[in-house]
Amino acid sequence: MGGCLSRPAEKYETDKDKEVADLKAQVDQLQKALTAAKGSGAHAAPGKGGVVETLFFPDAKLPCRNMKKPGGCRRKNCEYAHEPTSLTRFLDYLGSATRTLDICVFTITNDDISDVVLNLHQKGVKVRIITDNDQSSTQGSDIAKFRAAGIPVRQDHSPAHMHHKFAIIDGRLLLNGSFNWTRQAVTGNNENVTVLSDLALIQAFQAQFNKLWSMFNT
Ligand SMILES: [Zn+2]
Repeated sequence: MGGCLSRPAEKYETDKDKEVADLKAQVDQLQKALTAAKGSGAHAAPGKGGVVETLFFPDAKLPCRNMKKPGGCRRKNCEYAHEPTSLTRFLDYLGSATRTLDICVFTITNDDISDVVLNLHQKGVKVRIITDNDQSSTQGSDIAKFRAAGIPVRQDHSPAHMHHKFAIIDGRLLLNGSFNWTRQAVTGNNENVTVLSDLALIQAFQAQFNKLWSMFNT
């Protein structure tokens, strides 16, 4: 009780002063936490925090599908991208899966992404997908395609959204950010995906994935 009374508002001359004091206190706290984390060896790569890279969207163009063919694209004035983009980098990471791919996303309507996922499944990679029930039946959702191919898909059945956007590749890489797996997000929205290799972080996301996977088994 006395503690509250001993901290009068007029201690700070302006709201700005109080704001600055609060921010300084927050920085002090973060620095203490950082020192503690470094001391405990929590990060496998100190200084990097396990961040491999961050991809930013929108891309100016969608990737040209002819680039997958031998000889590349021969179309004159082709309007698609022939150089690496954030999406092609993203697809490269996804496609690097050799054992497992756990996907937990709001919705998937991007055919470039679903083609990579289907291809991995066909190559024997164990793919699991968690998604939102409100999106799975909307036009363009690729969920039906995944199910038809034999990929296990589970959904939440609540009015709330399963709004995560992350994927775990072989238990060694985590893709996480605002990026929806849609065409609109690639060339329209401001989005990000950070690629992380921090094992402690990956384990936390894996535990959450497993929890949701069990929870949505109805
Ligand atoms: Zn082209």
